[in-house]
Amino acid sequence: MFTSIKLGSPFGISVYIHPAFWLLPIFYLFSNLKATSLFHSILEVGLLFAVFFCVILHEFGHALAARFFGIQTRDITIYPMGGVARLEKMSHDPFEELVIALSGPAVNFLIFFLLLPICIQFSPTPFDFENLIPPNSFLGSLNHYLKMLMFSNLGLLIFNLLPIFPMDGGRVLRALLNLAVGFSNATIISVTLGNLGAIFLVFLGLFSSNYILVLLAFFVFIAGRQELLLLKNKYNRDTNFNFTSAWASSPSNFSTLTWDPQQKAWVYLDGEQPTPFSNNPERPA
Ligand SMILES: [Zn+2]
Repeated sequence: MFTSIKLGSPFGISVYIHPAFWLLPIFYLFSNLKATSLFHSILEVGLLFAVFFCVILHEFGHALAARFFGIQTRDITIYPMGGVARLEKMSHDPFEELVIALSGPAVNFLIFFLLLPICIQFSPTPFDFENLIPPNSFLGSLNHYLKMLMFSNLGLLIFNLLPIFPMDGGRVLRALLNLAVGFSNATIISVTLGNLGAIFLVFLGLFSSNYILVLLAFFVFIAGRQELLLLKNKYNRDTNFNFTSAWASSPSNFSTLTWDPQQKAWVYLDGEQPTPFSNNPERPA
């Protein structure tokens, strides 16, 4: 129970269940037992597993779209607050990022529209929320749970498209901003909006007693910080590379180099702007 369980490797991508995930069905079973019978509580937990199966399909939507662009997926892990497909790298191309981000919610959209005609077969008013207490007949229960699964997929679709980076909607936003203001600015704006979204999730979670949302907000904060760190490292790599080649092509353009202990780099003055040249502590020749 305290190690990740491997479910299998469809399409060569290993799917794991994180040990913390099991807290969710246990909590869900006991909170349902207070309200309804053991039989219906077990069915409710079954519904939870069906929803998480749809979450796995959602993650495969991302993983297979990424593979189409030559990006492999290390693995897919299911946590209590949802699934994560760990891609080998993130595409900096706005079109690729847009397609990869939308492919997950597209799977939930597809499941919703596959379940809709079945639910209409059972009752002509599938959007009727009045009768959500599971009726006691087998067909009534089946109808009820299929309906709940259909709406859960609609919920997953809408929730994932909220513009809260690094959720799918946040990635869509970054891809669109990337077209207008470039990758770095798009990331900074998306992460900032994502942090505001995380605060919103904390309040929503506390007011609705849905503490999974608070956990998700924490995950959004951490992932946002990590994304900014990646951006900073990329910036350092890019600038070092550019300055080195600029120095090599025309060294006479540079004034005296100075060691900057804060940036841990040799810098030169470009106008009045100290600009990093090399982070090798040895003075460049
Ligand atoms: Zn997703």
